Amino acid sequence: MTLAVLTLALGFGALSAAAQSPAAGASKADAPDPKATEQWEPVPPIVSPGATVSAPPADAIVLFDGRNLDQWVSTKDHSPARWKVGDGVMTVDKASGNIETKQVFGSYQLHLEWRIPKDITGEGQLRGNSGLFLASTGPGDAGYEIQILDSWKNKTYVNGQAASIYKQAPPLVNAMRPPGEWQTYDVVWTAPTFATDGTLRSPAYVTLFHNGVLVQNHFQLTGETVYVGKPTYRAHQRAAIKLQAHGDPSAPISFRNIWVRELDGG
Ligand code: MG
Repeated sequence: MTLAVLTLALGFGALSAAAQSPAAGASKADAPDPKATEQWEPVPPIVSPGATVSAPPADAIVLFDGRNLDQWVSTKDHSPARWKVGDGVMTVDKASGNIETKQVFGSYQLHLEWRIPKDITGEGQLRGNSGLFLASTGPGDAGYEIQILDSWKNKTYVNGQAASIYKQAPPLVNAMRPPGEWQTYDVVWTAPTFATDGTLRSPAYVTLFHNGVLVQNHFQLTGETVYVGKPTYRAHQRAAIKLQAHGDPSAPISFRNIWVRELDGG
């Protein structure tokens, strides 16, 4: 079926956004379509990483050392974080939702390790989905997300694979280790700044190393990362660092060894 015939079949007089994306459904021609912001090509080349070093330097603020969640609260009500801690790691509790740091930050260097379960199931965005929000600007998934996902032989839109700035920038390469192995993220986050009237003064930037491999090089964000539509900035102050309890049905992922170094004096 050609697009023109399809358009007629759907009862439209002219091409519309829905006709170009038939999956969106004929009855909601103007409804925001999450697929509109998916990028599928080019696929980042695969680079096999080397060993990574991760011990916190002397001036780091340790956010998780394997023992407890004292530095973390539930995003939705700021009650104590209820993810599971054991064997030196924390594991997402999807029922209790996102967690975030008690402390708020401006610009910083961050180290974080995460592990997809060895027996992970599912595909695309439904396979080990979590996320690192560099600044939590509100409830739920509000903020700026570096995607966490199993991107070892798992096809999805490239601006939504592991180490992407969600729906803004695919990683330069795919440095993923297989499920069951620990992954490292080392981030340099330059927080955005806002004038007193709320307008953007300077945008946010992210540099990211995934397993020691450069995957985001001083990328300038166009706003908060959003599932649907165009990113925009909303004025905010210093903010918590947030971890995502994504609702996908696959087994929950784990984290360990999280530390941060403030770059703007705290
Ligand atoms: Mg995510």
